[in-house]
Formats: sequence, structure tokens, C-alpha cells
Amino acid sequence: METRHRELLDSMREGGVAPHGDLRRLIADAAGDADIRERAAGLAREATLAVFGDAVFIRGLIECSNHCRNDCLYCGLRAGNSRLDRYRLDPEEILACCGAGYALGFRTFVLQGGEDGFFTDERLAAIVASIRAAHPDCAVTLSFGERSPEGYARLRRAGADRYLLRHETADAEHYARLHPEGMTLASRIGCLRDLKRLGFQTGAGFMVGSPFQSAATLASDVLLLHALQPEMAGIGPFLPHGDTPFGGCPPGDVDLTLFMLSLVRLVLPHALLPATTALGTAREDGRERGILSGANVVMPNLSPARARSRYALYDGKLHEGPEAAENLSALRDRLAAIGRRVVVDRGDYRGRSENR
Ligand code: SAH
Ligand code: SF4
Repeated sequence: METRHRELLDSMREGGVAPHGDLRRLIADAAGDADIRERAAGLAREATLAVFGDAVFIRGLIECSNHCRNDCLYCGLRAGNSRLDRYRLDPEEILACCGAGYALGFRTFVLQGGEDGFFTDERLAAIVASIRAAHPDCAVTLSFGERSPEGYARLRRAGADRYLLRHETADAEHYARLHPEGMTLASRIGCLRDLKRLGFQTGAGFMVGSPFQSAATLASDVLLLHALQPEMAGIGPFLPHGDTPFGGCPPGDVDLTLFMLSLVRLVLPHALLPATTALGTAREDGRERGILSGANVVMPNLSPARARSRYALYDGKLHEGPEAAENLSALRDRLAAIGRRVVVDRGDYRGRSENR
């Protein structure tokens, strides 16, 4: 490993951030250099343990709808995928999932779905309020894409605590190649700023290995996260879905994904970073590797059986084994084997939230 790379990583561990060119070179070289990646993982692990100790937070993921008005080129739920069998959960089913999750020890519920016009601000706010009433000691996280500032405000008033909206890529031209005309990075960042202003714990994030990505766009991702200071960041490999325009593209590299997770941990030491389902899908020990590279959250699937196989963001998405909420004890054992402890806790962000 070159000295400049080692020095750069050490300075990031100390809270520094590198110029774009240095980061780009580091990322480009890390792809083929296990020493750099291991060094980054070690520093990220140390940073995570310093803030969170051995605790790993769990979130119960409820996939509420696979209808979507958008046409993101990478995603199996895109409107243009006519082969997908569509479904949506009704409020009673969602509430029942939360009840089952509560009994298992979940204290955060993540409601996610495509941009489905059925889930108006009003309907979604009513669902959030009913969950908060039934489980006042739990946090509700939403992930339903881009909405108006008024819509977000309404959801916040109804009691939603957090919102996940990945920026997908911090490079505007790259963003335009992953999305249909009309979807822009500027609009996405506007939403993220609205969410922060409204007091949501806000999650950004990106895929690693999406088509047209480069070390330069990944360096921009790190710098955007540093500037935005989101409370959460989701980072997982791009995985192709056969019924999308990117169906023939190669999957993202797992080692590079883990390296990016480590870099993000260094720039966001207090953030809640999941070892994503995509990581667990790409490699059998993906979740554990994610935790050992700086993640501190896992999001098992709490959706009803009829939803799980149909919420097909990409091919082969895991929804069984340790990925299933009902197998929490298996997940607990696997994390115990790497020295981590699954805790029954809302797992809120405890750093200083800055509204940038
Ligand atoms: N509609 C919402 C939530 C569902 S999609 C939204 O877009 O925010 C949630 C995330 O899944 C997206 O942010 C994207 O990063 C990820 N995703 C979609 N398709 C994927 C694929 N083919 N491989 C890996 N991740 C994917
Ligand atoms: Fe819809 Fe989200 Fe998939 Fe885009 S990524 S098509 S918004 S579900």
C-alpha cells in the first residue's frame, strides 16, 4: 500500500476529509489491493466500536407495496416492468407485521415501498399514527421515495421519526444515466434537505457497481455524505434484475462495496449504517462482512409471505434464513460469532444532528 493512501485513511479516522482527487485515487487502487481494504476495514471497525460498542441495531422491514410510478433503470419495481406481479399491503396487515415484530424484539419498523400513488400523504400518515399509537416505544422509518415538503411535514407530524432516501449517486450526469428523464440529482438532494430540516433522522446512500459508475463518482459519494451529514446511509452492491434495461450488467463487487462502507464509516462516525440485504444476497457472509467493515444495523424482513418474493428490486433477493425476521435467533447467533450483540432498542442517532 502506498504511504499516501495509508496517510489518507489515518487522517480520515481523525475526522479529516480528503480532496476529491486523492479519494478517487484511493478508491481506484483499493479495488485491486486487499491491504488498503483491510486497513480501511480495521479503522472503520475501531471507529464503530468506539461509538457503539458491540451493539448491533435491528430494524423490521415491511415492504408495503411494489407498485411504482418511477422507472429507475436499475430497479425491478420500475413502472416499465410489466412482468412483475404487483401487490400492496393494507393498513391492517402492516399493523399486524408491527405487532409480530414487536414480540420478536424489534423497536424500529421500516415501511418501504415504490412510489405508489395509493399511499397518499393522508393514508400513510394515518398508518404511521396507528403504529405509533399501538407501539409508543417504537420508531417508525419511512422509505417511499420523493414527496413534497408538505407531504414530508405531514408524515413527520403523524409521528414518523426517520426517512430513507438514497441519493443513488452524487454525480449529476451519472444520476441521469440511471434514471429516466425528469428525475434529477438536484431534486433528490432537495428532498434530503427538506427531510433534515423537518427533523427526520435522514438516510442517504448509494449502490456500488451501478452501470457507468467510476472511482470519481464514488469519491463524489463520499464527499456528498460528508457535506450532508445524514444520520443514516445505505450502501449495497448493485445487483441486476433481468426485467430491467440493466439486466445484463455485472453485479457490483462485494469487496469494493465493503471498502466504500468503511470509508463512509470514517466520514460519518456516528451514523447508523446497515449491512444491507443486497450485501447478504451477494455473498453468504455479506452481513457479517458488512458489520466487520463498519456497519452497525441489520434490517431483517418482516413482510408477510405474499409480499416477500414479489418485492423484487433485483434478482435473487434474500428473504429467508437469517434475513427473515422470524429467524432472529439465527441472526443473533451469527453476529455473536463475530463478537456483536443484537440489542432490543430503537437505536436512534445519538450524534449531533446538523441541518446542512
Ligand atoms: N422507492 C423507494 C424505496 C424502494 S427502492 C426509493 O426508491 O427510495 C430502495 C432502494 O433499493 C433504492 O434506493 C436502491 O438504491 C435500491 N435498489 C433498487 N434496485 C436495486 C438493484 N438492482 N440493486 C441494488 N439495489 C437496488
Ligand atoms: Fe421505484 Fe424506488 Fe425502484 Fe425507483 S428505486 S423504480 S422509485 S421502487
